Amino acid sequence: MTGNRTFTMIKPDAVENGHIGAILDKINAAGFKIVAMKYTQLSKRDAEAFYAIHSERPFFGELVEFMTRGPIVSAILEKDNAVEDFRALIGATNPAEAAEGTIRKLYATSIGENAVHGSDSDENAAIEGAFHFAGREIF
Ligand code: ATP
Ligand code: MG
Repeated sequence: MTGNRTFTMIKPDAVENGHIGAILDKINAAGFKIVAMKYTQLSKRDAEAFYAIHSERPFFGELVEFMTRGPIVSAILEKDNAVEDFRALIGATNPAEAAEGTIRKLYATSIGENAVHGSDSDENAAIEGAFHFAGREIF
């Protein structure tokens, strides 16, 4: 995967609250092209592996419990400067600190249940995209 791609998940809270369509509209309106997408649910093992970097953090158990409690939408998105621009579109981790108009400001409920994931580097975007999608599922 090249530097113009990022990986996202619409998390279980946003799916439960009926925000898939609104979030995809924001993503499209911001100029991202969807190059891979699926509706799926993470197993405990998937979530522990995906968030392994946070395994020593006090909220890790809560994070795994949350991310596995219902379906998610995962996707690979393409745009110039994808990682940075997508982080700007979603806003700060804590919705209370997220800028007006960002996806987390609009749809997240707490720092833990914050509606969307966005990769934090080109390297992690490639790793996370490959974790969720086979090569033949990426267009
Ligand atoms: P993400 O990686 O999901 O895009 P992020 O990069 O903004 O979010 P990280 O620091 O990578 O934030 O944290 C990963 C996820 O762990 C957060 O999105 C949130 O769901 C959860 N999390 C982070 N900090 C806390 C906290 N203090 N309490 C509870 N959950 C947290
Ligand atoms: Mg992160």
